[in-house]
Amino acid sequence: MVITVLNQWFEIYKERSLFHRYIAQGHVAPLLKNLKTSFKIESIGQSVLGVSIDVILVGTGNKKIFMWSQMHGNESTTTKAVFDILNAFENCEDHQIKQILSSCTIAIIPMLNPDGAKAYTRSNANEIDLNRDAQELSQPESKVLMKFYKSFKPDFCFNLHGQRTIFSAGKANKPATVSFLAPAQDESCAVTNNRRRAMEIIVQMNKVLQKQIPHQVGVYDDSFNINCVGDTFQRDNVPTVLFEAGHYAHDYPREVTRRYIFQSLLTAMNYIATTEITGNYYNDYFEIPQNEKLFYDIIIRNSYTAGGNFDIAVMFQEKLIEKTIEFVPIVEKIEDLNGFYGHKEINANNNAVLKANLEPLKVGDEIDFVLINSKKFSLILKNI
Ligand SMILES: [Zn+2]
Repeated sequence: MVITVLNQWFEIYKERSLFHRYIAQGHVAPLLKNLKTSFKIESIGQSVLGVSIDVILVGTGNKKIFMWSQMHGNESTTTKAVFDILNAFENCEDHQIKQILSSCTIAIIPMLNPDGAKAYTRSNANEIDLNRDAQELSQPESKVLMKFYKSFKPDFCFNLHGQRTIFSAGKANKPATVSFLAPAQDESCAVTNNRRRAMEIIVQMNKVLQKQIPHQVGVYDDSFNINCVGDTFQRDNVPTVLFEAGHYAHDYPREVTRRYIFQSLLTAMNYIATTEITGNYYNDYFEIPQNEKLFYDIIIRNSYTAGGNFDIAVMFQEKLIEKTIEFVPIVEKIEDLNGFYGHKEINANNNAVLKANLEPLKVGDEIDFVLINSKKFSLILKNI
């Protein structure tokens, strides 16, 4: 697929009623209602708090793709991209879109964890991480996912997530804007045929992304954990791809990353629709750097203290306040942060960095601004 066309489609089909970080069932329910005329939508179960978990079925082909988003309630970027794609499926007359729909049947659970989405938490209402519950199946959401997986019998699975701002793609000063993984399927992390097929799909997506966000794609390490859903489906010999929507410079609402997830999903589905995936073309997967945790939201360099000069790392804590997500700056570390990067950096030039009351900062402080040499530096997101 041509990148300029993918970008045009994104602008045309972007679901504008969904934006920023807080996406809950109340946002997507009216969209599902509207889609009902074109696509089949079924309620396949309920969350802990009794909210419907829905699946959307689209396409008529015999290659079956199953994807689910917001298994972690506070990871909403991929949900936005899913609805952008549904708009394209519904309205775009391009032959490539038509071919995806004639070659594939696609099942999408847009919000597996509606209770977590509403509360803006990773876990579900019982405080269980659904991505560690693939064996025990102790939670209703996990049972819904597994039951649908078994009845649909997918040929490919896409496990859609979002990742924190801490990740770099490798050791360079580049955020991991999108990350992938072809999860392991056994303790030895053997590169099996269906893992190679998942890797081959990732290679295709990486090619499209590298042209636009060079060195900003990473892969996760593949240590095996059978309690994770991706590892469980991979072990079942279904090629499974983990998608992680990450940080792009200044894009805390994740509206830029949303574009790259949209492109990645369409590229993957187009590849599946048009190719008999053998797993022969997987080698470039190993060229993608591994994710490292090298970023903080803000680093204040060279702060003078009586004990020596240190760097100060500040991280934004995401807080749900009146149905929007606010980013609250918290001091995370005061130490030498050589080798780490800030999405924003301030140089204190060996001056003391002080709070409003002229006390030095402490780890855990929630702080809107600092004083350096009597000058005020805002740490609030809209001001940086
Ligand atoms: Zn996640």
